[in-house]
This record gives sequence, structure tokens and C-alpha cells, in this order.
Amino acid sequence: MDDWVLTDADPVQVARERERARKLRQTAWWQRKVGKGLCAYCGVRFDPRVLTMDHVVPLARGGRSVKGNVLPSCKDCNNRKKLLTPAEQLLRARALVGPAGPGDASGNEDD
Ligand SMILES: [Zn+2]
Repeated sequence: MDDWVLTDADPVQVARERERARKLRQTAWWQRKVGKGLCAYCGVRFDPRVLTMDHVVPLARGGRSVKGNVLPSCKDCNNRKKLLTPAEQLLRARALVGPAGPGDASGNEDD
């Protein structure tokens, strides 16, 4: 994990939010959401049984198990995301491709 990602969440709170997530997973609201079978990140359709409840802001980063912070996610996206917050994912994605240059990088060379 990148060392600029701090995981300083209170373990007691993380445990409490995990328990909340477990209960949230049993609600009709979540069943309906995951029942669509759509991964919120890659948009690919899966068997609802393989989708996991992903915390947009991870519990380890102080995220909560509330409706506004959980999304259905496939295993791949969940693994890719790990402990990053949405803003950090964008920052990291940008760091990986380098700074955006002038114009586009698609090889379009017409002046
Ligand atoms: Zn996905």
C-alpha cells in the first residue's frame, strides 16, 4: 500500500461499522440494490451472489456503514480499490498515467 495512505481509524469504530454493514446487507434496501447484479465501479453485470458490499470511503479510513457509503462491487473492483478513498483513486490513477499533457494522447496528429 502506498505510504501516503494513512489508516488511522479507531479499531473499535471499525468493528462497530463492520457489524452495521452485516445488518445493512440483510435489509430489503441492499437486497434490491445488489439484486440488479450491477457492479457500481465497472458497470459489468454479475450474478448478485458474487457482488460484495463495498464502502466508498473504506471503514479503515473512517468510513461508515450507511446507505450513502456502500455500493455493490465485483471482487476485481473491490480488490483494486482496497483502502483508497474515491479522491485518492483519482489521484493515483492520474499518477500512474502521468500528468495530462496538452491536447489528447490518442495519436491524433491533425493540426
Ligand atoms: Zn466491477
